[in-house]
Amino acid sequence: MNIHPIVAGNWKMHKTRNEGVSFVSKIKNRVLDKVEARVIFCPPFTALFSIVEAIEGSSLSVGAQNVYFESQGAFTGEISVEMLKPEGVEYVIIGHSERRRIFGESDSLINKKIHAVLGGGLIPIFCIGEKLEDRKANRTTDVLKIQIESGLEGLGAVDPTKIIVAYEPVWAIGASEAASVEQISEAHASVKSILAGMFRDDGNDVPLLYGGSVNEKNAAELIQTKGVDGFLAGGASLNEDSFCSIIEQVSNFYKR
Ligand code: PEP
Repeated sequence: MNIHPIVAGNWKMHKTRNEGVSFVSKIKNRVLDKVEARVIFCPPFTALFSIVEAIEGSSLSVGAQNVYFESQGAFTGEISVEMLKPEGVEYVIIGHSERRRIFGESDSLINKKIHAVLGGGLIPIFCIGEKLEDRKANRTTDVLKIQIESGLEGLGAVDPTKIIVAYEPVWAIGASEAASVEQISEAHASVKSILAGMFRDDGNDVPLLYGGSVNEKNAAELIQTKGVDGFLAGGASLNEDSFCSIIEQVSNFYKR
């Protein structure tokens, strides 16, 4: 792996501000000397800014779970890139399957958000992934291609240090098991080739995370999978021991 590995934790709608700050402070103390991975906490908005303060002076980073593409205006309930950036937020998850499914986010809305995030100097963690019915119908690569090409439409070029893609098969999120090594390496190869088709070498160098039921038991095997540059973890990122263990395993693999 020549890309610095990444471990991002998507807390979804979990943890109050106090719970989040205490959680992050404990992790900061535990992983202090062994962070070979880029670790990104993505808490809910209410905890975001306090967590930026809590990680100050460490190599840890903070990401938002969502953002709107306009910079300001009559958009009740929304938050802009311009509001996140000055507060020390560096990343934003875009296109998570829960936002696509529950909140009806379309590829074209996701594309507008990607443009706003990149234009505003934040790093998108752009999520893509097929549903179970797509996989069963052998449509996985087609779905990934549509999501990637629509989500990144209009970007003439990408800087691979300024964008992250997360392959998250919808059927493996919050499931009893992660996707298999074969399924992941096959999908990651497709994603890399779609990105390379769009952006040549820069596309090939975009860090590609796997997400979907990653935990402390499968992290060691999954991080060794070809094309996997790190993880986007949901459930396991809420537990101190699990998340620290994932960070350590990813870091160990990188050091070898
Ligand atoms: C996610 O929601 O991005 C995710 C990967 O969740 P989990 O790890 O719980 O499957």
